[in-house]
Amino acid sequence: DTIGADLAFTVERFGDRDALVDTASGRRWTYAEFGRAVEEVALGLLAKGVAKGDRVGIWAVNCPEWVMVQYATARVGAVMVNINPAYRVHELAHVLRQAGVSVLVASVEHKTSDYRRMVEQVRADCPALRDVVYIDDPTWTGLVRLGEGVDPARLAEREARIGCHDPVNIQYTSGTTGFAKGATLSHHNILNNGYFVGELLGYTEADRVALPVPFYHCFGMVMGNLAITSHGACAVIPAPSFDPAATLRAVQSERCTSLYGVPTMFIAMLGLPDFAAHDLSSLRTGIMAGSPCPEEVMKRVVTEMHMAEVAICYGMTETSPVSTQTRRDDDLARRTGTVGRVLPHIEVKVVDPATGATVGRGEPGELCTRGYSVMLGYWEEPERTAEAVDEERWMHTGDLATMDEDGYVRIVGRIKDMIIRGGENVYPREIEEFLHTHPKIADVQVIGVPDEKYGEEIMACVILRDPADTLTRDELARYCRGRLAHYKVPRHLRVLPEFPMTVSGKVRKVELRERATEVLR
Ligand code: ATP
Ligand code: MG
Repeated sequence: DTIGADLAFTVERFGDRDALVDTASGRRWTYAEFGRAVEEVALGLLAKGVAKGDRVGIWAVNCPEWVMVQYATARVGAVMVNINPAYRVHELAHVLRQAGVSVLVASVEHKTSDYRRMVEQVRADCPALRDVVYIDDPTWTGLVRLGEGVDPARLAEREARIGCHDPVNIQYTSGTTGFAKGATLSHHNILNNGYFVGELLGYTEADRVALPVPFYHCFGMVMGNLAITSHGACAVIPAPSFDPAATLRAVQSERCTSLYGVPTMFIAMLGLPDFAAHDLSSLRTGIMAGSPCPEEVMKRVVTEMHMAEVAICYGMTETSPVSTQTRRDDDLARRTGTVGRVLPHIEVKVVDPATGATVGRGEPGELCTRGYSVMLGYWEEPERTAEAVDEERWMHTGDLATMDEDGYVRIVGRIKDMIIRGGENVYPREIEEFLHTHPKIADVQVIGVPDEKYGEEIMACVILRDPADTLTRDELARYCRGRLAHYKVPRHLRVLPEFPMTVSGKVRKVELRERATEVLR
């Protein structure tokens, strides 16, 4: 099916149910209203001459219009290009040019970002870009008004020409390990993935899902929006960008049943001074994903946030994104300690990165995935696509994992983050999990830093629960003694107020490593 056909089905079945709530502005849409709003935008895009396969960029913070553009571009057969709202002019220009964006929809401004000014700065360098529409601006109402002059039959004609294997989206990876890559995804890729994620969470039209995760990332637009609309559930937008207090308020006032976040978002919500004052009893489920999910944090989410059925998902932009997910009836150990089992109609295997041979159960190796979810390819980058996806269509994830006898997967870490200390492989994840149990530590990242004697040494970067507190290296070493093999005990310690992050909420270990290396020099 196409995304447009799936939405039409939901609108028909659940027309009078809530589809979308924007708590910041107080605006809300039923499915009937949302379906109409999407149609208006789709007709506007037709009026602007958007042809099948044209790239329409979206460079905006979370807002209802973002979601409308997502479905409207799918309905007109365009390829929506998600642009990270944290990008600055040169990154924006790069994406607009690389993807050949002809129409751009953008926020006017948010916090310190003046999107309009940045767009105007790069416009001259982007010859393909012929039109810009700003949300919350007369150009947006202008788009809708233009569409009023278009015969809806033209939209139906266009939709009849869209196939489920057509590209619908270019999503850039988070750029955690370096330069972001544009994964090209089809209707078939992401609609199925969103649907199965929602199925495994047990979504129905009764669910209301709080989405503090960014829409420009697959976490928001696939695991969020597509999982929600394919089940007739309701999306709740707590704020334009992540705000822990606004998120808890939205969960409480909208009686949300589900809440998403990357681990650092849940840590921030749990750490609010007035956390306990919120009524979160409506929560049943949710997703933690995107980066390693510490067991301690997962346990607190289950007990203190009432999310008894919370799932961990593992995936990557290139695979639509989700490949494995914990199940509703998993026991606590599996729910908090693994990334679950493979999704229906997807295959996973763990291989020796050197030989490509499948390793034994429980042994670490590179995780590979295959199935409907693997991207069409990186946009206009066949060489990089060939490096990531082999001839048998296996996606090589670059992540180290183990798989147990029952198919439950644990992510050991990224191959690139593995520390080799004196010839010994050290997995940062294991040390991070252990340090999360330290009472003073709110969040921790373990990295390898250059060392003359051992090649690499282990450094722990920590954020303390109480910023006024102190933690010394000796104190930490004492805590580790007898509980962690001596060669895994961090030699260096840095106490930081925060970590360098990507906008999708991931810690940029590369940058942490660069900064730490500078400090040590
Ligand atoms: P880039 O590819 O540009 O360096 P990125 O890999 O962070 O950035 P994404 O596609 O957003 O971009 O993220 C996918 C990666 O996130 C996975 O390869 C994995 O390393 C990590 N990840 C996702 N979910 C989990 C999880 N549940 N546990 C551990 N790691 C996870
Ligand atoms: Mg990646």
